[in-house]
Amino acid sequence: SHLVKTVTTQEGELTILKGINLDVKPGQSVAILGPSGSGKSTLLGLLAALDTPSSGEIWLDGEPLSGLDEEQKAALRKQKVSFIFQSFMLVDTLSALENVMLPAELAGVQDARDRAKRMLERVGLGHRLTHYPKQLSGGEQQRVAIARAFIGEPKVLFADEPTGNLDKHNADKVADMLFAMNQESATTLVLVTHDLHLAQRCERQLVMDDGQLFEQGVDDTAAVGE
Ligand code: ATP
Ligand code: MG
Repeated sequence: SHLVKTVTTQEGELTILKGINLDVKPGQSVAILGPSGSGKSTLLGLLAALDTPSSGEIWLDGEPLSGLDEEQKAALRKQKVSFIFQSFMLVDTLSALENVMLPAELAGVQDARDRAKRMLERVGLGHRLTHYPKQLSGGEQQRVAIARAFIGEPKVLFADEPTGNLDKHNADKVADMLFAMNQESATTLVLVTHDLHLAQRCERQLVMDDGQLFEQGVDDTAAVGE
């Protein structure tokens, strides 16, 4: 808590996060809203142990990150964390099935292929196993990314605008999937979104504004503008 992130730019020091305190309960779903450039992605990167705070402490599943070296952090991420990037980050040269298998294979899971197949069936893509990302629609690619994010049964899933770039129909489908998996496997969900509808489906809404994080009342969403 009390997270601060300062970066050095050509114009000097820039403080992106100005003292963030956040406690997310296991299994909880949390939406982070707020204007572009307010620091949402930066915060997500810190929480997911992809980046290091300038000061402040982060605890992930009961473990403080500050004492860990890069190797230990990587191991922790592999074990407990998944991240869905706004740009999907699928591997172009691998099929849908191979994309989903990849993390499980790297983790040495025996039945990676079968599990990947089941995950893709669950996200409604059982008929797209051998398709390459280029041959999939945006919504389908996003669902492949979700299947891949859940194959390792993460404790926490961080998603940066998981429904950005999707039309309403696909956005709803992707959201349904996220919450179904959040319920079934008690995965903690922390997602950044501009989509108020998606945010309202989360148990808790937070608003980032100029590097500070505020709790948002459920009936108070009118205040969340761009
Ligand atoms: P968006 O909704 O547009 O994705 P965001 O809330 O995710 O915005 P961040 O990506 O967290 O915003 O960035 C917050 C601010 O910090 C931005 O003004 C950005 O330019 C700046 N910033 C982020 N990373 C760096 C960096 N490594 N060096 C310099 N400035 C940075
Ligand atoms: Mg962002």
